[in-house]
Amino acid sequence: MMKRILYLVATVIILVSCKQKTQQPEDTQSENKVVKKVEIPAFNADSAYYFTEKQLSFGPRVPNTKPHEQCADYIVSVLKRYCKDVVVQEFQATAWNGTLLKGKNIIASFKPETNNRIFFSSHWDSRPYADYDPDEKNHRKPIPGANDGASGVGILMEIARLFSTNQPNVGVDLIMFDLEDYGEPKGETVTTEDNWCLGSQYWARNPHKQGYKAKYGILLDMAAAKNAVFTMENTSMYYAPDIMKMVWETAANLGYANYFSTEKTGGLIDDHLYVNKYAKIPTIDIVHHDPTTVSGFFPYWHTMKDDMSNIDKTTMTVVANTILTVAFQEE
Ligand SMILES: [Zn+2]
Repeated sequence: MMKRILYLVATVIILVSCKQKTQQPEDTQSENKVVKKVEIPAFNADSAYYFTEKQLSFGPRVPNTKPHEQCADYIVSVLKRYCKDVVVQEFQATAWNGTLLKGKNIIASFKPETNNRIFFSSHWDSRPYADYDPDEKNHRKPIPGANDGASGVGILMEIARLFSTNQPNVGVDLIMFDLEDYGEPKGETVTTEDNWCLGSQYWARNPHKQGYKAKYGILLDMAAAKNAVFTMENTSMYYAPDIMKMVWETAANLGYANYFSTEKTGGLIDDHLYVNKYAKIPTIDIVHHDPTTVSGFFPYWHTMKDDMSNIDKTTMTVVANTILTVAFQEE
């Protein structure tokens, strides 16, 4: 990820303030509401950590390079071990600098026969530019992309492993988007728009199955750093407020309110934006917000230090248990 956007903010503030008023009675009621307990399979954070580390072991997953190709093969081979319906969607897209990029969106579908579906997603490519590194010499070097990319995919790969023996009632697609993080580096002036999230833009316009529908989607981006805080980001709140509230409430019921903050923060351009816009599937982003950094993201965002030392197994478990509960509480 990604970029911040401001154009949604004004609209969202209005929506939010209206909603808050009408919501008060509901909130009071919810205190008396019996929280439905659902059984979820035991998430193994060591396994998710391993899947994350293994992606980094190929080197930066920069499109049109060997490590990118090797990592795609690795993700596909693991997913095929756990799921019989794995689709690799190959496509091409033009980057901000005119480079033609070869991309692969990787999708594992559980219960593909049912139309009652949701999806979880993340991006598996890594950024070619450490343009927020404190050392300017690194600004054109690729980042390791541990938290920004690999960790979300690692969590989803572990979920695939769990689903191989224990699936929720709802059908779930695990979508690993490619070419998310190839947006223009800081300081470059570009004439083209929508240079980020090329894989999700492609998928949202050309889903892996004709007429693909899902009730909603959840995107994970930078969701594995120690003590991460996920705020109610405005693109999600604009397109999918009910889903966001449901997921946040689920997290709170699990005792994770310190990770899932109800603070509202500015809208982002991330994969969920294009899925909302083009595929019209309400989709939210679980993304780390840090008000103390210039970027607003986790401290090592788009730097050479986005490596495995940032990956925290507790945070991985918190995020995974939340979305697993969401899936298993679906009828
Ligand atoms: Zn990024």
